[in-house]
Amino acid sequence: MSSIGHFINGARVAGTSGRSADVFNPSTGQVSAQLSLANAADLQAAVDAAKAAQPAWAATNPQRRARVFMKYVQLLNDNMQELAELLSAEHGKTVEDSKGDIQRGLEVCEFVIGIPHLQKGEYTEGAGPGIDMFSMRQPVGIGAGITPFNFPAMIPMWMFAPAIAAGNAFILKPSERDPSVPMRLAELMIEAGLPKGILNVVNGDKEAVDLILQHPDIGAVSFVGSTPIAAYVYGEAARYGKRAQTFGGAKNHMIIMPDADLDQAADALIGAGYGSAGERCMAISVAVPVGQATADALIERLIPRVEQLKIAPYTDATADFGPVVTKASQEKILKLIDTGVEEGAKLRVDGRGFKLQGYEDGFYVGACLFDEVTPDMDIYKQEIFGPVLSVVRAADYESALALPMKHEYGNGVAIYTRDGDAARDFAARINVGMIGVNVPIPTPLAYHSFGGWKRSSFGDLNQHGPDSIKFWTRTKTVTTRWPSGIKSGAEFSMPVMR
Ligand code: NAD
Repeated sequence: MSSIGHFINGARVAGTSGRSADVFNPSTGQVSAQLSLANAADLQAAVDAAKAAQPAWAATNPQRRARVFMKYVQLLNDNMQELAELLSAEHGKTVEDSKGDIQRGLEVCEFVIGIPHLQKGEYTEGAGPGIDMFSMRQPVGIGAGITPFNFPAMIPMWMFAPAIAAGNAFILKPSERDPSVPMRLAELMIEAGLPKGILNVVNGDKEAVDLILQHPDIGAVSFVGSTPIAAYVYGEAARYGKRAQTFGGAKNHMIIMPDADLDQAADALIGAGYGSAGERCMAISVAVPVGQATADALIERLIPRVEQLKIAPYTDATADFGPVVTKASQEKILKLIDTGVEEGAKLRVDGRGFKLQGYEDGFYVGACLFDEVTPDMDIYKQEIFGPVLSVVRAADYESALALPMKHEYGNGVAIYTRDGDAARDFAARINVGMIGVNVPIPTPLAYHSFGGWKRSSFGDLNQHGPDSIKFWTRTKTVTTRWPSGIKSGAEFSMPVMR
């Protein structure tokens, strides 16, 4: 069995805390590695390395910083298969799906190759008599990222790519469920030419997160994970004087209008609801057909599609999805399905008894489909984060719209319709951050910014795209006047431009 430590100052190092956690292969249920959990000394070693390296990196011209990412993108492509298999072995998702996880992070690295342009400041000539004014965007210094298990490649890259491109040093605290890919991503950055100390990986649990939040030399914290922890991290970051962007859970609805192509809508729901075993923050977990006829026709199409889904270990290239990440999440999902049945929802496809010969200890959950779910039920209110789709029937468009509007989460939402007016009205009124019109998973591409509303996100700047450059830099504004423009005598009143 391997042991995984930390990545500090350009090299893998062992942890010093004596505390560790099991890393599992969810497909088999076997422990595959022991992961060191950081203490204050481990984090301090990372901060010391970051502090020593950051000034020279920030002073490196932006084209040179960009070139590290050019090389990095090439290395990610060269190592795609190896990275995807490593990712699937600890996460459980299919290898093709893991490639998508890496690709979406790679695209953020492509985006930040534009850093010479993205980080340019602003200039006003003649802001007053003989006065010029300019603003620059300087790196925060040391940034930190705390990431969830479900995208162990994409989400670390959402954070460290813009942070590092902008001249920061970075400390990544990945999920303790699947740390191997983040470690490898850091190694490849060194291979791409990043100076050591600029990207460090500190593995750990709550103790490491609290140490990051409290550390006086870390200026900015980005978090993605569940809502209670996102809210906690946001509050603690503020308490310790750090800027923070924190992203939480989701319950993404898809509204199906009576005029939609129901075969297209059903296919979209299958991919978006069950892909990656439903463990995506942009997964569709609630389908809202409008009108009884639409609902009946949709259910009729969904049932055979759900029954035919192939659940298998990541090593099976024909799998639609694999296991969920841990035994604890398997148990939690199964318990919530029981709750749904007790609450009176109709379980049209029951995957609770799913077993896979030869993989009896794997963390599998069979695909489930609920009909006649209502907003008062726990299975509607809570994020299940498993292969479970709930159908909530709505009488008309207004009552369908009211469902995601009233839900505490506001990450993503979709509408399926041929009616441009309905789609336009929906996009204008809905209080959700990312909207798909006939697109089930409307995850913005790297050059736009990603983020939800309501309790899916705390803080005002989103991930990647233009927002990320703002988040990882501070504005400094300089006002200049030279002797020929300076009037004699002291000025006592507030200076204004008349
Ligand atoms: P999680 O909240 O359990 O863990 C996220 C991170 O927080 C991990 O690094 C973990 O070590 C740390 N952590 C866990 N408990 C902590 C505590 N008590 N104090 C401090 N830190 C703690 O989330 P997860 O299970 O890894 O990921 C799934 C969740 O992430 C889902 O809710 C999903 O919707 C959400 N998610 C959201 C987005 C988004 O962009 N909004 C994207 C991906 C995942």
